[in-house]
Amino acid sequence: MPSPVRGRFAPTPSGPLHAGSVLAAIGSYLSAKGAGGLWYLRMEDLDRPRLQPGAASTILAQLEALALEWDGAILWQSQHLERYGAALNQLMATGIAYPCGCSRAALQQSAGNCPCLERPPAKARAWRLRPGPRAMEAWEDRWRGPQHPTVQHPPPALLRADQIIAYVLASVVDDGFQRVTEVVRGEDLLPLTGVQRQLQAALDLPHPGYAHLPLIRDDRGRKLSKSAGAPGVAGSPGRAWEFCLRYLGWDLPADLMGADATTWRNWAIQRLHCGAPLWPQG
Ligand code: GLU
Repeated sequence: MPSPVRGRFAPTPSGPLHAGSVLAAIGSYLSAKGAGGLWYLRMEDLDRPRLQPGAASTILAQLEALALEWDGAILWQSQHLERYGAALNQLMATGIAYPCGCSRAALQQSAGNCPCLERPPAKARAWRLRPGPRAMEAWEDRWRGPQHPTVQHPPPALLRADQIIAYVLASVVDDGFQRVTEVVRGEDLLPLTGVQRQLQAALDLPHPGYAHLPLIRDDRGRKLSKSAGAPGVAGSPGRAWEFCLRYLGWDLPADLMGADATTWRNWAIQRLHCGAPLWPQG
């Protein structure tokens, strides 16, 4: 029997879900559940300076109101520091993580070309990912098609100067730990996917499939931040479903307009089970 699709939604509790993260939640949920798979919830709560008290409970309440039910227990990253530490040690031991002594200002001055790649610093401030050919390998995004990643300047931190494990590493470790087979998220994370694929190869983890959904912008073309309101999503959970399904390119039946979140969810899942595509390219 083929192994089931395993999707996930991985918010950072730095504020309530905004329109873009609601789209990622609904898109990742439908992709997994439409294929009869599992959908996990992971709280990416490592970045202590960005966390907002109460945001995690607000997010859980928002997901429940949207009728998005996750499988299994919630994974709280702050409870698994040893797992990320072990992965970092492995990357340090193989030289894929390298010590960097540069300040932010020094990196800006060197246009992101990190001198510590050539000359190890007397004292490491952070540990970064050594650029490698695996980060440049082409891959196929389910929404956006073929991707040809470019080099990241400066090389991304794996252990930050404030000694916090960076998102880019923790997320890869947990996608591997949760045996995630597909990642559906916003396109703001597209530039980091090559790096995450390099990390998967270095840690001997399989590559999940990726789909990066378009960012929701306001009338003036600006990305909606977590603090900004969002048309259609700021209202009821049922309206948020209508907004997101339309955004994914679905035609919605007139007689369902104004339905609640559970009705939209069940309707969408049923259509997917009947073979409707989740999005135009999917
Ligand atoms: N935690 C990240 C965020 O809220 C998303 C991580 C991911 O989906 O890979 O932006």
